[in-house]
Amino acid sequence: MSERNRQVLNELLKKPGNSCCADCKCEENVEWASCNLGIFLCQDCAGIHRSLGVDTSRVKSIKLDNWDDDQVMKMSEKGNDVVNKKYEQHLPKYYMRPTRHDVEILRAQFIRAKYERMEFVYPAKQAPYSSNTKEGNLMKKGKHDKKYNPRRFIINSKDNCLQYFNKESPKGPKDTVPLDDINIVFVPEKIGNPNGFQISYMKNGTTRNLFLYCDDSKEAIDWFTAIRCAKLERRRLAFPDRNEDELCKDLTSNFLCEGFLWKKGPRNEPYKKRWFTLDRRKLMYLSDPLSPIPKGEVYIGHKDAGYSVANSTKNKSDILEFVLETTERGFELKAESIEDKEKWIVALTNVITNPPTPQDIKMCSMMNRR
Ligand SMILES: [Zn+2]
Repeated sequence: MSERNRQVLNELLKKPGNSCCADCKCEENVEWASCNLGIFLCQDCAGIHRSLGVDTSRVKSIKLDNWDDDQVMKMSEKGNDVVNKKYEQHLPKYYMRPTRHDVEILRAQFIRAKYERMEFVYPAKQAPYSSNTKEGNLMKKGKHDKKYNPRRFIINSKDNCLQYFNKESPKGPKDTVPLDDINIVFVPEKIGNPNGFQISYMKNGTTRNLFLYCDDSKEAIDWFTAIRCAKLERRRLAFPDRNEDELCKDLTSNFLCEGFLWKKGPRNEPYKKRWFTLDRRKLMYLSDPLSPIPKGEVYIGHKDAGYSVANSTKNKSDILEFVLETTERGFELKAESIEDKEKWIVALTNVITNPPTPQDIKMCSMMNRR
């Protein structure tokens, strides 16, 4: 490849739109390009583009591959801003643009929706998630066993609910969940399926977890996006004066931290192993990662209200032990490794040092109703 071409490509990379990845917008490892689409990509997104096949996207390394004059010319004519203006012209605000920290299904399906299915060029293709209603079967884990069974799910934003039915029974829905309070998170590892996700909601002051999957990745993303769309519609009605970007914040939230910890009982009972999930400002502990109802859950407030997390200061304390102080009680906890302990302390400290949002305060009031 001529020195001249390499120079041109490096100059193009410095343009504002090209310095971050066309798809995930991250600024690291933007050393790849799709030469037929005319976009610059990070390493992770380039990997997904490669899986689309060369008819849709032809991936090249800027540093390592040879570029001919025509290809370089195309890159300079197009570039991220020009191409995104086309391929994201009707990208809905509620559609989640994944970052490189998100799970594979979110990253891959965003790119497939954008270039392969062109859902953001032709809004009619958004019908499976944009109509505020959705109905279909999902595989749901049984409450008391590990078996997954097909269950009918219905989203109805007019009545503000997600319903599911055990069978085609005349008895009515097994549960009716207010849309406003639903969180939906992809948890493929926990469920053991690349399209596995968890829906959490509050019922009578306690969290309920549903563990679900469907065989088709697009269908799983359609459910995820349909819930986000219906939640936004509810927020639009409730807060007509607020700006759309603000309403789209936290339509769904990834779990901030998850994993096994050992926890002492409130009367100094011996350590028991529990699965902990930090969902926004709610810390749940469960007897099993796939428990439908947590053993306990606690709201994590702000440091000024008396919340803190720190290494244990007890005599003869173990280096894996740490203490979470809440207004209700102190939790003596123990991680399985130093890395795990650090991970939890960082995640909890982040929550404790951030002021609660109005949604956090609502969550707190729902938890305290018990
Ligand atoms: Zn990217």
